[in-house]
Amino acid sequence: MTLTTHATLGAVIGRATGNPLLAFIFGFISHFLIDMIPHGDTGLADNFRIHKRRRKQAVAYVMVDAVFALFFVLLLANTRDIESLRTFSWGIVGGVLPDLLVGLYDLTKSPMLRWFNKMHFFFHDFFVKRKGDVPLYYALLAQVVLIAYLQTKF
Ligand SMILES: [Zn+2]
Repeated sequence: MTLTTHATLGAVIGRATGNPLLAFIFGFISHFLIDMIPHGDTGLADNFRIHKRRRKQAVAYVMVDAVFALFFVLLLANTRDIESLRTFSWGIVGGVLPDLLVGLYDLTKSPMLRWFNKMHFFFHDFFVKRKGDVPLYYALLAQVVLIAYLQTKF
């Protein structure tokens, strides 16, 4: 999923838990579960990791996604009455952290992160590798709809 989706879901979960530690834990778990839904980025990811072609496209996608997510959570934080900024923040941190660790693994190839990278893609590719992916365009539209729904939960 996009970082915006992970961040928004993490924030909503954070609010539901009402506790910063639980916000982080459930936000973190939510990342793996929602990533299991095919979301159109297999072509980009395979080009980046396996075929090692059109890598700039994948990097650009992640950069746009990351900055957009940042703007979106700032928009939420500045326009909503956030009950607890702590649970809001820790839910977002938990929801987004797995992709940060995957990115760090891609950069460093650290053996300390290899198991985490494997686990992330076990969940991420669970249905995609069995049933195939959906077109990225539709997946992004679906995520816009999901975010539009989630942002009503503040
Ligand atoms: Zn992920």
